[in-house]
Amino acid sequence: MTRYEAIIIGGGPGGLTAGLYTSRGGLKALLVERGIFGGQIVNARQVENYPGFPEGISGFELGALMHQQATKYGLETITAEVTGIRAGQNYSIVTTDGNFEAEAIIIAAGSSYHKLGVAGEDKLLGRGVSYCATCDGFLFRGHDVAVVGGGDTAVTDALELSQHAAKVYVIHRRDELRAGQILQHQAFAQPKLKFIWDSVVEEVSGDEVVSELKLRNVKSGEISTLGVDGIFVAIGLEPNSQPFDDTADLDETGHIMTDESMATSAPGIFAVGDIRRNSARQVASAVGDGATAAASAFRYIRERS
Ligand code: NAP
Repeated sequence: MTRYEAIIIGGGPGGLTAGLYTSRGGLKALLVERGIFGGQIVNARQVENYPGFPEGISGFELGALMHQQATKYGLETITAEVTGIRAGQNYSIVTTDGNFEAEAIIIAAGSSYHKLGVAGEDKLLGRGVSYCATCDGFLFRGHDVAVVGGGDTAVTDALELSQHAAKVYVIHRRDELRAGQILQHQAFAQPKLKFIWDSVVEEVSGDEVVSELKLRNVKSGEISTLGVDGIFVAIGLEPNSQPFDDTADLDETGHIMTDESMATSAPGIFAVGDIRRNSARQVASAVGDGATAAASAFRYIRERS
């Protein structure tokens, strides 16, 4: 079993920053990513709030640059899925491509958007279907869009979209919002927002891009159609913490609990970015977490030797 000083799980901005700092600082480090290096950000057409890029940068390009910089100093990377961590004198990381040993681990496995799970959702992803109003909202200037959900994210997204879109339909499965009162007041005062209560989306359709949603009223059973150019799904995020649920303490929503040094309840295991509790869910904050966790991993390794 190949032995590393640090293993980083996840190749988004948090993981890549941890990889940059650990390898550049001289640790023998491996980063394991199951999909595309860059993480969720690769889906963002334009990132306008990451410092250093005043004109904005495509998420794909930003992810590729972060990967390029992280691997410049000897960080090894593999594409594999981590299925668990075993504790011993060192930790053993179990992956679909074999097991690896490490003294310290930085978990940067991120989160996944809850999907509606309806026909057309995957096919039209990036062509009218989006999970990120901040990333894609400006593309719908003057168009009609829908937001699905009734929580803080859905209402925040709807308010943000009202800055760009002509009309924003909020489709919620109940007849009252889950979002906080202040957001609700703002939403009900925004004339561009139209609420469609007690309804769920059954299908997203369109040839090249989204053009129509099929809705079902959950009380009456009535089926209707709604013409829109975009649909923003905001029905919650799920941290990708399942492989680690017997390794470190999670909160009631499945996020990994950390302290300000990014340390989890397991000695030598750190967590960064969206997977950890109270993350700001921004590229900039994930990058900061990654640098902090790398410093903590150095300290941990030094103190145990
Ligand atoms: P959330 O609070 O879990 O709300 C998810 C919403 O989606 C709920 O309205 C839920 O309906 C609906 N939903 C869930 N599954 C659905 C499905 N399969 N089909 C249709 N609708 C579905 O998630 P969130 O809004 O992403 O917020 C997550 C956390 O971040 C919360 O703690 C929130 O307070 C926080 N947050 C805060 C702010 C802020 O500005 N303060 C902004 C964003 C997020 P029901 O209501 O019927 O369950």
